[in-house]
Amino acid sequence: MPGLTIVWFRRDLRLHDHPALVEALREHERVVPLFVLDDALLEGRYRSPTRVAFMLGCLRDLDAALRERGSRLVVRHGRPEHVVRDLARDLGAAAVHWTSDVSPYARRRDRRVTEALAEDGVVARPHGGGYLRDPSKPRTKGGRPFTVFSPFHRHIAGLGGRTVHRAPASLPPLPRGLEPGAIPDDPREGVVPEPAVEAGEAAARRALERFLREPVDHYADRQDGMARVGTSVLSPYLRWGCLSARECEERALRKGGRGAAAWVRQLAWRDFYAHVLLLHPDVLDLEFQERYRRTLAWSGDEATLAAWREGRTGYPLVDAGMRQLARTGWMHNRARLVTGSFLTKDLHHDWRAGERHFAELLLDGEPAQNNGNWQWIASTGVDPAPAFRRMFNPTLQARKFDPEARYLRRWVPELERVPLDRVFEPWTMTEDEQRAAGCVIGRDYPGPIVDHAAERRVALERYRRASPDDAS
Ligand SMILES: Cc1cc2nc3c(=O)[nH]c(=O)nc-3n(C[C@H](O)[C@H](O)[C@H](O)COP(=O)(O)OP(=O)(O)OC[C@H]3O[C@@H](n4cnc5c(N)ncnc54)[C@H](O)[C@@H]3O)c2cc1C
Repeated sequence: MPGLTIVWFRRDLRLHDHPALVEALREHERVVPLFVLDDALLEGRYRSPTRVAFMLGCLRDLDAALRERGSRLVVRHGRPEHVVRDLARDLGAAAVHWTSDVSPYARRRDRRVTEALAEDGVVARPHGGGYLRDPSKPRTKGGRPFTVFSPFHRHIAGLGGRTVHRAPASLPPLPRGLEPGAIPDDPREGVVPEPAVEAGEAAARRALERFLREPVDHYADRQDGMARVGTSVLSPYLRWGCLSARECEERALRKGGRGAAAWVRQLAWRDFYAHVLLLHPDVLDLEFQERYRRTLAWSGDEATLAAWREGRTGYPLVDAGMRQLARTGWMHNRARLVTGSFLTKDLHHDWRAGERHFAELLLDGEPAQNNGNWQWIASTGVDPAPAFRRMFNPTLQARKFDPEARYLRRWVPELERVPLDRVFEPWTMTEDEQRAAGCVIGRDYPGPIVDHAAERRVALERYRRASPDDAS
């Protein structure tokens, strides 16, 4: 079909392996790449200047890649159902292609855009491309959506993946007279000082190359180690679609080995939570486990919540994780687990308070993954296990996964000179030791704000009361 089409980019900010773009180019002579700055997302449920800055960096990179190929990114500001329809009308577009998304907001928005386009006879063409497999499809043998990860993973591994596409070598120019519009400047305030990764597809592809060259081989053994990062740190790129998860999977499997297999399995968690959110959108507001809906008693103590957010709990691993998040917009998965467990099981705060804080700061923050993981750690979500299994002792976790305390000292510099045999429990130092280490507890670094062993018992009791069958 000749004519003109629009490719509406959203969180698929790349040119490699982009099914919607491939299909648009196959079907039409002219293709106009569009991005809509949508206030509902920029200012949305969890406002995040850090993520907005990252997204704008990705848009600049996408525009550069489009220019290299003879096109440009068209940027408009407004409600997508107006902006996309108006542009399609002005250009006489036959269709608008995009990559499907799973969040309730995205699905409502896409329905509105589809209806608006239909009024003008323009065809809406959603495509896959955001996940390893189409997250709407998997069903158990009994025909139900999956709620447990391992069988879900086995199922999608058996489905086989779609073809991975190259980036187009060249693109048709924009129609004459079409004003591309400008990518705005980064927000001036509220952006983390040292973002963990550089924005955009070009940086993403370099990072993927680096990871696949060697670190992936050690992934199975180093994924939990905290002193040196043994994971890919590709999550911000996957979140913004600077990389296609399917291409990551394909390249890792082609490389082969135990590390690659473990990494691909981890990628499947992302599909799993997308599947869960797509089929159970009410998890954004409610516990997946009905027995925990409005039955768990949560703390309202603002002081302990602030101490957690600011990394002042007196538990070094919790504080290190929270400070890494505040400085870089990223946190190691092990630290996310420990800080999440500490908030919900030691401080007894509602998991939604943690979800919100993470959503405001994480470069990779997004509803499906953040909600799924917060509900996992709060023991309220899919993939259930008794509450006591997901209660982490922050001191033992630090000893096990950061035995030389390098991660702790990197993010909590007050502990720099605290000897190794005390650094996991700095409050056990004698007064002389504290003075010698330049770390006086209560002055330079807080004492523990709660007693883990005691709070563990309180948490077990809270969960038992909410659901008498669970924490036994
Ligand atoms: C409380 C909590 C909140 C979280 N919030 C988010 C979030 O908002 N966005 C997000 O992408 N991840 C979230 N995670 C999952 C996980 O911590 C990150 O995906 C991971 O740390 C990213 O680092 P990486 O890219 O080095 O991962 P790698 O270990 O290299 O894994 C590769 C990719 O697999 C995916 N992945 C890995 N682990 C998980 C997981 N548990 N759940 C879903 N996908 C996973 C990610 O896309 C990741 O980039 C959260 C985890 C916890 C415990």
